[in-house]
Amino acid sequence: MTAERVLVTGGAGFLGSHLCDSLVADGADVLCLDNFYTGGKANIRHHLCQNNFEIIRHDLVEPILLEVDKIYNLACPASPVHYQNNPVKTVKTNVMGTINMLGLAKRVKARILQASTSEVYGDPSEHPQRESYWGNVNPIGPRSCYDEGKRVAETLCMDYHRQNGVDVRIIRIFNTYGPRMAVADGRVVSNFIVSALQGEPLKVYGDGSQTRSFCHVSDMVRGMRAMMETDNFTGPVNIGNPAEFTIGELAGIVLRLTGSKSRVEHLPLPKDDPVRRRPDISLAREKLGWEPRVPLEEGLKDTIAYFRSVLTV
Ligand code: NAD
Ligand code: UDP
Repeated sequence: MTAERVLVTGGAGFLGSHLCDSLVADGADVLCLDNFYTGGKANIRHHLCQNNFEIIRHDLVEPILLEVDKIYNLACPASPVHYQNNPVKTVKTNVMGTINMLGLAKRVKARILQASTSEVYGDPSEHPQRESYWGNVNPIGPRSCYDEGKRVAETLCMDYHRQNGVDVRIIRIFNTYGPRMAVADGRVVSNFIVSALQGEPLKVYGDGSQTRSFCHVSDMVRGMRAMMETDNFTGPVNIGNPAEFTIGELAGIVLRLTGSKSRVEHLPLPKDDPVRRRPDISLAREKLGWEPRVPLEEGLKDTIAYFRSVLTV
C-alpha cells in the first residue's frame, strides 16, 4: 500500500512543524509548503534526510499544482505582531491562499482541513464560546485582516463544500503554545517566558484582567488529526483547552516556574484586544472523542525548557 500524500501549508511554523512530526512518524508522505515568513527551516531540519518528507518554498497566494490526498491548510502568520505587519498580505493569504488550496482539493479530490481560529468570535459577548455563536468582530480594525480573513476562509470552505462537494474540515484553534514558538513571535506565552529568562520586565498589556485559555501543542496536533480522520463532519469545531487564566495570572505562573526576578510592567491595551476567551469543547468531545490532556503548568515546563535551550545557544 502506498503512503498517503499529505500537504501541510505553513509546515515550517510552530503548529505546522509539530503536525509534520506526527505525520512523518506515522509514515505519511509529507509535503511541507512554506514561504518562511514566520516559520523557519530549523523547525523541520530534523526531517530533511527522511524519505517521507519534502519541503517546498512557495507563497500560498500563488496557485500551485500538486498531487496529494490530504491538505492541512495552516499557512498564515498567527501572532498579532506579524499579521499586522503587512495586513493586506494577511488578507491575501487567508483569501487567495485558501481559494488556491480549496481549488487544489477540488481538482485532486483531497480532504482539506482549514486552520481557523477563536478570533472568528472577536471580542465575544457569549462566554464560553460555542460554535453556534456568530461572533463580535470589528470589520475595520487592526485585527480585522486576520479575523475577517479567517472568517472568509471559513465561508470559502463551506461554499466549496456545498457548491463543489469538497470534503472540508474546519477547526477553530484557541491560543496554543509550546516548544518552537519563535523567540520573537510576539504572542503572550513566548514573550513572557523570554522576558523572564532574560531578566527583562514582563510586559502586561492593560491591567492583565483579560483572559485566554491556553492549549498545549501536543493536544492541538491530536485534535487536528482527529478532525482530519473523522467522517461526515465538516465542523467548525473548537479545539482548545477550556482552563481560563487572566494574563496577570499567566505572568505570575511564568515568574514562579522560571524562578525569575523580573518585574511586571503594564503597557496600554492594544485596540480591539478581546476581553475574555474560553472554548466550549462539548462538540469536540462528542464528535471526535477529543479533549486536552496537558494542564498549563505542565505544558509550560517543556516550553520553558525549550526557550532555555535556544536562548543559551
Ligand atoms: P506561525 O506563524 O508559527 O506559522 C505560520 C506558518 O505559515 C509560518 O511557517 C509562515 O512562514 C507560513 N506562512 C505565512 N504566510 C504564508 C504564505 N503566504 N505562504 C506560505 N506560507 C506562509 O503560526 P502558528 O501558531 O503555527 O499557526 C498556524 C496556523 O494556525 C495559522 O493558520 C493560524 O492562524 C492558526 N492558529 C494558530 C493559533 C495559535 O495559538 N498558535 C490560534 C489560532 C489559529
Ligand atoms: N499580551 C500581553 N503581553 C504580551 C503579549 C500579549 O499582555 O507581551 C496580552 C494581549 O494583549 C492579549 C493576550 O496577552 O490580551 C494574548 O495575546 P496574544 O498576542 O498571545 O494572542 P491573542 O490576543 O491573539 O489571543
